[in-house]
Amino acid sequence: MPSTRALIHAPWSASKVSTALRCPRLFHFKYVQKLKEPEVMPEARIGKAIHHALELTLQGQTLAEALTTSRVKLQGDSEHARFDALATGIPAFTSRIGQFKQRKRVTRQLVEYSLAVREDMTTTQFYAGDAYFRGVLDLGYLFSDAGIALVDHKTGVRLPGTSITDQLEGYAVLAAAAFRHAKTFWLGVHWLAERAVEWSKPVPPEMIADELMPDLLDNIEAAALAVSDGPRTNPSAWCDRCSYRGLCPASTEVRYEPVEYDEDDED
Ligand code: SF4
Repeated sequence: MPSTRALIHAPWSASKVSTALRCPRLFHFKYVQKLKEPEVMPEARIGKAIHHALELTLQGQTLAEALTTSRVKLQGDSEHARFDALATGIPAFTSRIGQFKQRKRVTRQLVEYSLAVREDMTTTQFYAGDAYFRGVLDLGYLFSDAGIALVDHKTGVRLPGTSITDQLEGYAVLAAAAFRHAKTFWLGVHWLAERAVEWSKPVPPEMIADELMPDLLDNIEAAALAVSDGPRTNPSAWCDRCSYRGLCPASTEVRYEPVEYDEDDED
């Protein structure tokens, strides 16, 4: 059973958990006070636009249409140039997906698919009041052989040594609850800039039930514990990318740390 402190902040998501663990003050701005982001970072805007372009393309729009629609909220030449550079990876991905769909017997494609579970891990609606953990899957494929592939698009830099299973653990738990007939789960991370898709080993439902689900529940508890003392700041390199840094005194201290005046330097 989840603790009361975990239930207070439900519904959880993978990004909500990582925000709580990264900085309780940021968690407070975003999920407790629910303040609108005072500053949207270019990376966030570009990432959102690229996700949207991928979504539209996978739903059948032409690449040209998808790019035109998706780039409207970008600001300035630099953001447009970075978006255009990343977008060159989209045709490579869609062509790879096309080949993959020919090889495997796909019965259903899921694009930006919302999933949610209650605290007892039964499925519920994404916006339901009893949702305990939820997420939006970037892309999924159900196969005729009871396999399911889950793919998460990443527009940032590939982090060596990060486990795919760890990154997609929440989606695997959500998908296992929603597609109970599935016998094998393939977890993939699509690194758009590198035009690469990295796959985990096939994950059986038993591993999700025995390892990934308890791990996810532990992470939620750790996140709830981290924010249980209130909006404590946790200044780090992350502050430079924090959308709320303008509201946070700790960020100013980190970014504009006064240079220590050393009397010996006078000589
Ligand atoms: S600026 Fe840094 S310390 Fe302040 S809320 Fe953001 S991440 Fe936390």
